[in-house]
Amino acid sequence: MPRPISVSIAPAALRHNLSVVREHLDRTAERAGGTPASIWAVIKANAYGHGIEQAVSGFSDAQGLAMLDLQEAVRCREAGWGGPILLLEGFFEPDDLDIVDRYHLTTSVHNREQLDMLAHAKLSRRVDIMLKLNTGMNRLGFSAHSYGPAHARALQLQERGQLGTVGKMTHFACADGEQGVAAQMNVFNANTQGLAAGPVSVCNSAATLRYAEIAVGDAQTTHWVRPGICLYGASPFADADAASFGLRPAMTLRSELLSVQEIPAGAAVGYGATFTAPAPMRIGVVACGYADGYPRHAGTGTPVTVGGVTTRLVGRVSMDMLMVDLDPVPGAAFGTPVVLWGEGGPSVDEVATHAGTIGYELLCAVAPRVPRFVV
Ligand SMILES: *Cc1c(COP(=O)(O)O)cnc(C)c1O
Repeated sequence: MPRPISVSIAPAALRHNLSVVREHLDRTAERAGGTPASIWAVIKANAYGHGIEQAVSGFSDAQGLAMLDLQEAVRCREAGWGGPILLLEGFFEPDDLDIVDRYHLTTSVHNREQLDMLAHAKLSRRVDIMLKLNTGMNRLGFSAHSYGPAHARALQLQERGQLGTVGKMTHFACADGEQGVAAQMNVFNANTQGLAAGPVSVCNSAATLRYAEIAVGDAQTTHWVRPGICLYGASPFADADAASFGLRPAMTLRSELLSVQEIPAGAAVGYGATFTAPAPMRIGVVACGYADGYPRHAGTGTPVTVGGVTTRLVGRVSMDMLMVDLDPVPGAAFGTPVVLWGEGGPSVDEVATHAGTIGYELLCAVAPRVPRFVV
């Protein structure tokens, strides 16, 4: 028998979360009297750890899929996805353009080198691109002063038959926080105004949920949002949980108690003896540790659901096990089911907060050794 740990993925939850975003975009467009945004469902990093094939199935109603690994793009095609695919980092070397061409991928273009490669490529059809402007995150994208010339060059390549659609995109650094998107939107508008019309894509999950009005289209412009984390049922915000948006977790990490210890007051638990029992107590040992992808930085007090009751982790997480307080669950015994995060347990965001990180990192980090089920 394998260890009792497992991770389950629910394409139905992916589908539900996509529909939540869809309805939100439709309502926003209706209020504004414009055209609703299309959705690139972001499935980078193996669909935030959920699996490309599960994402292709769960997001079949999306208008497009966005990722950055060319091999993941090929997997989408092999899984039967015939719609648009956007490469968020674009391509890396001239040979990649063979794959872009063969699998009919749309690519972001964020630097001059990529434009050069496109200019020299021998392609069987026009490549659709999203030309990326750096509006202040200072990660990818043409700077404000080089964007106009880059766009003009893209239009020349379009004229020569190398490029198809030339769209405009940017990415927000602070859509989830106080600062919001206004400053970056000002830079975006100032530097894209007057350029030939084309599709526009600016919103990640946080901007899609909080500022959807900036993604309402009109007769000239189709908007595309790029939500990722919210489609997996986790929150991009520190101050609002996923459930408050009607989102459902698509990943559930489960295990079981493999032992129970009865310890006296004053006894310590785990490596480093970081937790000491204030009174006699029962400790449950869970078959899940940091080698399974559970964060070692999650300390005493991190919520863990045992037998349907939410209790707390105690002591340090070890490689293959972690310990929990069984006082709130007197009936718990060997084999009692445990939910580390997901359906019927704490949210991945709560666990992440206790570990000083974000849900994204935990979803991506479930170890290959953990058996996976699609439910
Ligand atoms: C990851 C990513 C997204 C999605 O971000 P979320 O916060 O998960 O919604 C959108 N656009 C780009 C360019 C990204 O890299």
